[in-house]
Amino acid sequence: MAAQSKKSIGVLTSGGDAPGMNAAVRAVVRTALARGVEVYAIREGYQGMVDGGNQIVPMNWDSVGSILQQGGTVIGTARCAAFRTREGRRQAARNLLKRKIDGLVVVGGDGSLTGADTFRREWPGLLAEMVTLGEITQKVADQHPSLAIVGLVGSIDNDMFGTDMTIGADTSLHRITEALDALSSTAASHQRTFVVEVMGRRCGYLALMGAIAGGADWVLIPESPPDVDNWEDKMCAVLKAGRDIGGRRDSIVIVAEGAQDRKGRPISSQYVQMVLEEKLGEDARVTILGHVQRGGAPSAFDRNLSTMMGYAAVDTLLTVQADTEPQLIGIRGNRIVHSPLMDAVRQTQAVNEAITANDYETAMALRGSSFQDAFRTLRTMIRAAPHPPKPGHKRLRLAVIHSGGPAPGMNPAVRVAVRLGLDHGHQMLGVQHGFKGLIAGDIKELDWMSVNGWATRGGAELGTNRFVPEGSDFYAIARSIETHKIDGLLMIGGWTGYQSAHELFNRRVNFPAFNIPMVCLPASIDNDLPGSELSIGADTALNNIVEAIDKIKQSAVASQRCFVVEVMGRYCGYLALMSGMATGAERVYLNEEGISLADLQADLTRLVAGFERGRRLALLIRNEYANPLYTTGFLCSLFEEESKELFDVRQAILGHLQQGGDPSPFDRIQATRLATRCIEYLIEQAEETTPAASFIGLQAGQVKFFSLEDLPRLLDTVHRRPKEQWWMELRPIVRLLSQPGPEVG
Ligand code: ADP
Repeated sequence: MAAQSKKSIGVLTSGGDAPGMNAAVRAVVRTALARGVEVYAIREGYQGMVDGGNQIVPMNWDSVGSILQQGGTVIGTARCAAFRTREGRRQAARNLLKRKIDGLVVVGGDGSLTGADTFRREWPGLLAEMVTLGEITQKVADQHPSLAIVGLVGSIDNDMFGTDMTIGADTSLHRITEALDALSSTAASHQRTFVVEVMGRRCGYLALMGAIAGGADWVLIPESPPDVDNWEDKMCAVLKAGRDIGGRRDSIVIVAEGAQDRKGRPISSQYVQMVLEEKLGEDARVTILGHVQRGGAPSAFDRNLSTMMGYAAVDTLLTVQADTEPQLIGIRGNRIVHSPLMDAVRQTQAVNEAITANDYETAMALRGSSFQDAFRTLRTMIRAAPHPPKPGHKRLRLAVIHSGGPAPGMNPAVRVAVRLGLDHGHQMLGVQHGFKGLIAGDIKELDWMSVNGWATRGGAELGTNRFVPEGSDFYAIARSIETHKIDGLLMIGGWTGYQSAHELFNRRVNFPAFNIPMVCLPASIDNDLPGSELSIGADTALNNIVEAIDKIKQSAVASQRCFVVEVMGRYCGYLALMSGMATGAERVYLNEEGISLADLQADLTRLVAGFERGRRLALLIRNEYANPLYTTGFLCSLFEEESKELFDVRQAILGHLQQGGDPSPFDRIQATRLATRCIEYLIEQAEETTPAASFIGLQAGQVKFFSLEDLPRLLDTVHRRPKEQWWMELRPIVRLLSQPGPEVG
């Protein structure tokens, strides 16, 4: 009887494919198994449900092994006309009931999710019909009175309400920025203009964020068409000025697939090309990125987003009451949430309708404030020169400085800060080589074009180091501030930057020069800064780690091997845990948890059991400071010695490759967002008699400022990390997905 009542659920991917769908399927399957639920993969979307037979496959722990890092969807997706008919849906219901499935996790776009809702509403009627036709017994119908639905949005366009990000959008931005970076270099060589068309029929997300991340010079999106009739002239004038005044060698115009003018007439990339050639008399080339944007390995963010969503989907499915509305799993402000699915679908459609009705104000308003802010910032960034200062306007002198290890995204942050500051009519100064440079007065003025090209560049052009001032340094700093007439300081960096700014703040009584507005912007791959859930650079580092581990794993296809990979992060386990989630590591060692001998013994026992069961590969990730004595080398020796020759053990200490490389799109976009707010904040605070000294942070998706006075209160000073770390609550997910559930012996 107990076995009879075991619940069965199905998972399918439907509509357009999106990178990250596999991670979602893996998480759904493994979470279901861990919860003691039978789980089936339904192949080829609704088509498999309608066809039944071997298209509905029972899944076990290992059937979703090694798919996390694969693009596309291994269980297939399709568009299915039959499912649009009631007859098709009745057939689908019959096939589900054969396997006692009465819960579905659907990963797809708004079409697929709407289809799921229709199916759920019709379910009781469909079952009654089947009873009448003698296809099922009344008993079976009574056992499955309703169909529970949970939806995840798989869509590269990021076009859905109810979630800040959809599965696949981040990876798609990776593909777009890679392409833009590549095109910029060839465009600059030939002084050429490129028109790049990106996907997004009703949504300008990819175009807008691609333009910010790629440092493009003009963008056309469906929600906000050019606001003047002669936009062609305006665009050409700006591009020309960029070359004439600024000496820029390349120009890139991004056109969303669904771009249109105010009257709703489509603006094609070919039309833009023609305009550029006619009006500027220069060669313009069109690149349509097309399906490349859907392809490739999912980014670290998409793997983790899908994993967290898949995990939440099963728990939501198992807890929703029969007959409740289908739920949509989304991410809001960095947390997984669920909300009524059809509300999200309706709002999504409302934007589409607004665009169709040429009601662009509504369309932009519905997209939300960060989309609007991004668009506003972009419009400043693409100018060829700043607005001239208004007569009588007080010109502030605002300095930008780095401190801490290099974090990819520092340059884009400086670029935005400099351009926005200049556009507000102020003078911008760059301090070279951190606080050492401030002491030495190594400060230069930065003009509009001095930061050209920095939107995409890794490293830190201004230079950074971990030097923290002390003793007589403060006197020298005060003198530099006075000599250079610095009215405000933006520190973009990590721990030592926060520490240094705090030291200056504490000495305001002794040094009146420090009584200027100061703000710290978190930039550290370690993600160990207070006030912010994410710091600039951490996403790039995470992607660097994940790409490296993918390669390491591939190197061991044929052998029975255990890898112990050491990652950076200092005392903060963020990179270790998140890379563990993104690569499917068996075990993650964090400083926050430490390592005990008992842990190692238990891990060894599990490793041996796994290899005895026939596994070929094991991956353990160790944060660099997890334990001072149980080093990576020690772990390797221990496991190798005790491996009973079942497997060998190799170590990989990833080192500085984690800090390098071009910043990821997310880091470029976050750098833009935070730097915009910091500059506005400094300007605002310069009006105050006691200007604030603060640090900016992102918390639950909101930008906030915290006083430097609160720094000690928020810190675990022994371990140089925030007292509260939001990501610690993700540990159970990583643990659950890495270990076979009760179904596997
Ligand atoms: P997406 O899910 O990416 O928006 P589609 O709109 O093409 O993609 O939908 C994918 C599939 O979902 C369709 O081929 C169809 O089988 C099913 N579907 C979509 N809309 C509906 C609907 N209104 N009723 C029933 N099934 C639908």
